Amino acid sequence: MSDNKGPNFLEEIVANDLKTGKYKSIVTRFPPEPNGYLHIGHAKSICLNFGLSQEFGGYTNLRFDDTNPTTEDTEYVQSIKNDIRWLGFNWQHELYASDYFQQLYDWAVVLIRKGLAYVDDSTSEEIAAQKGTPTRSGTNSPFRDRSVEENLRLFQEMKEGKYRDGEKVLRAKIDMAHQNMHMRDPLMYRIKHAHHHRTGDTWCVYPMYDFAHGQSDAIENVTHSICTLEFIPHRDLYYWFIEQLGIFPSQQYEFARLNLSYTVMSKRKLLQLVNGRYVSGWDDPRMPTISALRRRGYTPESIRDFCERIGVARRENLIDVGLLEFSVRDHLNKVAQRRMVVLDPLKVVLTNYPEGEVEMLPGEDNPEDANSGSRDIPFSRELYIEQEDFMENAPKKFFRLAPGQMVRLKHAYIIKCEEVVKDAQGNITELHCTYVPESRSGSDTSGINVKGTLHWVSAAQALPIEVRLYDRLFMHEDVADAEGDFKEHLNPDSLQVIETAYAEPALKEATLEERYQFLRKGYFTLDPDSTADKLVFNRTVGLRDMWAKESKK
Ligand code: ATP
Ligand code: MG
Repeated sequence: MSDNKGPNFLEEIVANDLKTGKYKSIVTRFPPEPNGYLHIGHAKSICLNFGLSQEFGGYTNLRFDDTNPTTEDTEYVQSIKNDIRWLGFNWQHELYASDYFQQLYDWAVVLIRKGLAYVDDSTSEEIAAQKGTPTRSGTNSPFRDRSVEENLRLFQEMKEGKYRDGEKVLRAKIDMAHQNMHMRDPLMYRIKHAHHHRTGDTWCVYPMYDFAHGQSDAIENVTHSICTLEFIPHRDLYYWFIEQLGIFPSQQYEFARLNLSYTVMSKRKLLQLVNGRYVSGWDDPRMPTISALRRRGYTPESIRDFCERIGVARRENLIDVGLLEFSVRDHLNKVAQRRMVVLDPLKVVLTNYPEGEVEMLPGEDNPEDANSGSRDIPFSRELYIEQEDFMENAPKKFFRLAPGQMVRLKHAYIIKCEEVVKDAQGNITELHCTYVPESRSGSDTSGINVKGTLHWVSAAQALPIEVRLYDRLFMHEDVADAEGDFKEHLNPDSLQVIETAYAEPALKEATLEERYQFLRKGYFTLDPDSTADKLVFNRTVGLRDMWAKESKK
């Protein structure tokens, strides 16, 4: 879809595998752990996995990686499914690693019988000490040479609940001197007397990630198992289990996870923001979650476009969050309905406009879309314009309103500022202006040329709305790299609420699905907090990259 597609080394790998006949079609999977909401980093993985199977033929499974009973929840399962669908992808099968618990258990027994796994009574501290260091080889556990019979009996007893949490573990018997630390007799099973969101109390032994993930891939005939770079050291073990069990040889490939500037991405940290009430919830529009981006007004198209543009790399990097904003701006420019809203009102009285008269002026909904219609905008004697669009002592290049100066009101008339009205304290309370009747947009015969065009709202018909403006949630560009606790870098001004802004009446019909451009103010969308009495709008993004401008100064 995007003409600015970034490089993707995995496309070449898949294309080659199909060309050489290694596979007839491919199977990928997206394997979230249901312990939080999906974020923009997950979106990248989703676009990559689903994108490859769409491009090359094949399919993608959604597999919940639910092997850790204590942190997982069905609330997360629902939100994850919802977010993937919203992004525009359909999975072939909805699967759960927990559905494979019996198969995984049976395979563990196979490895015990082959003399490739043993039950270890060592404590976790002892096991850690046995592991050695990257430069010093490990030492064998005193339980390493248990007989097959004893291991079978003990593993069965572990499963039957005879032992407490941590009392025993099952370990693969590989090589305590292996140069890859992950190959030094890694854990396969641990005891956890915990309720699981799907299997209930059936199990009290749970497989470790390394013994669950590759085997789940193999069960599903996944051809390309794509994960992030931190799994490179797990790759040897991934292949070792598959080889020893003689099961479908899924292949693991690693790519660089998405890191965004001014953003934290780890679910653990996002959960802290939610639980500590630093944000209003997982879908607070300042969060990097899919649900928050949706609420903020991002479109699926813009997120997919962003993921394509950044490409798929083999090395970690930090992507400028401005690029995400660029993608959404680009899409919203094409689809947003144009409306006028005054955020910071200054009253204008047109002294030569008849009192009590209202005329309806047409305004196009979207100049970028030939098929879009128009709406009627009421115009009358009393209007609001933006405070910042008037200056009493304006510099030469100020093309907005100033005493004696003329501007055009969008879709309406040219007006001239005749008088500045002030209260006893000297504050400007309103402007008295005149309008040029022959200058009506569309039938302008005035011959007057003005440099500035302002947005405005007719006072009597103005719809009061609440507007929420967002800035970056963090002040540090590379939050993960910043000193101290990440929460110390929260931006205290990330949310600005304008309780009463004035909108043209057409916005009464606003829907959650529609996107809007408030002229000269940015892109906005209706927030679900809206009630019949008060509509609330979120600013998705400004019209230009204000930050780029800031940093140039
Ligand atoms: P986090 O570190 O944010 O908690 P996670 O890796 O624990 O994320 P999972 O639910 O295990 O989250 O991730 C599901 C899939 O999404 C995995 O394949 C993982 O590699 C991928 N993924 C997670 N974070 C990112 C990211 N920032 N960029 C790209 N892919 C990601
Ligand atoms: Mg994970």
